[in-house]
Amino acid sequence: MTIIENYSLKRLNTFKIDVKSKYFIEIEDETELKEVVKEYQSRSEKILLLGGGSNILFTKDFDGLVIHLDTKGIDIVSKNDKEIILDFQAGESWDDVVLYAVKNGYYGIENLSLIPGTIGAAPIQNIGAYGAELKDVFYSLDGFFIHDLEEKTFSLNECKFGYRDSIFKRELKDKFIITSVKLQLSKEKNFKLNYRDLADLNKLRKNITLEKVRNHIVKIRESKLPNPKVLGNAGSFYKNPEISKQQLSILIDQNPALPYFKSPDGKIKLPAGWLIEQCGWKGKREGDVASYHRQALIIINYGNATSQSILKFTQEIKESVISKFGIELEQEVNFY
Ligand code: FAD
Ligand code: NAP
Repeated sequence: MTIIENYSLKRLNTFKIDVKSKYFIEIEDETELKEVVKEYQSRSEKILLLGGGSNILFTKDFDGLVIHLDTKGIDIVSKNDKEIILDFQAGESWDDVVLYAVKNGYYGIENLSLIPGTIGAAPIQNIGAYGAELKDVFYSLDGFFIHDLEEKTFSLNECKFGYRDSIFKRELKDKFIITSVKLQLSKEKNFKLNYRDLADLNKLRKNITLEKVRNHIVKIRESKLPNPKVLGNAGSFYKNPEISKQQLSILIDQNPALPYFKSPDGKIKLPAGWLIEQCGWKGKREGDVASYHRQALIIINYGNATSQSILKFTQEIKESVISKFGIELEQEVNFY
């Protein structure tokens, strides 16, 4: 067990914020994970699980133990002619999981190509993109509670998945460690191609393949979204707000060009990026913090931005959206 003290987390968070953790350990083995958690829990140290660090904003040094989970492995749980259930260790890269599914002809997660991070973190906010969400293919997950190491399997319903949301972002925030995730993938063609950026794929009709969907999405994402290896960012800073039909009709009267999307549950989703852009923030830069010029919802660290400057910048964005549209944006990124 190699614990490092006063460890820089800069290379482990995609926002590239230069903070330190009091203690740090890299873990590749589940038994060791439990031993470490037991020891540091008994010493009343705070414990933070870190995957790819792509949905985190460190606002200060972390006064406790940061565990970088790097457990790997894929097991087949069951399969038949129509579907397969696979069990992935939490430290597997999410995009490697997508690549594995695409190469083996398993349908259901191709729209989630190129999302950074680990599969262990994917249930935390029920990752989603281009009309697909983790919950659509989720079977169950395993893990244990930090306070007593008790193991538990969470079924789909128990995870309380919502729009970029789950029980692990609420009641169980920082209380439960996910050690593996089971996905139920289809062996039969079943594409979701409703998003405008996927319209070209629809033209291929019968010739659509998993590879073509993945390659198309990778190409769009590479052209539209900043690569965190080059420009520090943590993806969408705020969630897309959901409003009622009544709120929508008032807003449409005032803003006839307002884009909106109806969710299956009857709620109305507004694109936060559009709201922010209308307030004049798209491409705006203050020091080393900016709103990305191709997608206003993504906040960029051009190099030496501090978390305080990011917080100030994003708070100003939030206030201007309230003042123009009366809508309070909710952060998607996890603050520590
Ligand atoms: P981290 O940032 O390391 O952790 C996030 C949270 O999960 C923290 O609270 C952490 O403590 C907790 N956590 C991590 N691992 C575990 C574990 N094993 N057990 C318990 N808790 C854990 N998200 C989308 O939904 N859709 C997108 O299309 C998308 N695109 C993105 C594009 C870019 C360029 C970037 C930078 C981010 C994007 N994201 C997107 C956000 C992010 O990639 C996802 O939320 C991803 O699931 C985070 O994974 P991670 O391993 O990096 O998590
Ligand atoms: P986009 O296609 O320009 O769309 C802008 C927003 O409108 C998206 O946030 C999306 O909501 C919504 N939208 C567009 N078409 C829709 C439709 N047919 N039905 C319902 N909602 C629709 O978005 P983008 O910035 O290029 O991103 C592409 C996808 O990647 C999106 O799904 C986005 O969520 C995802 N992404 C997520 C992050 C993150 O950090 N969370 C970062 C980058 C990209 P949804 O967000 O609900 O899809």
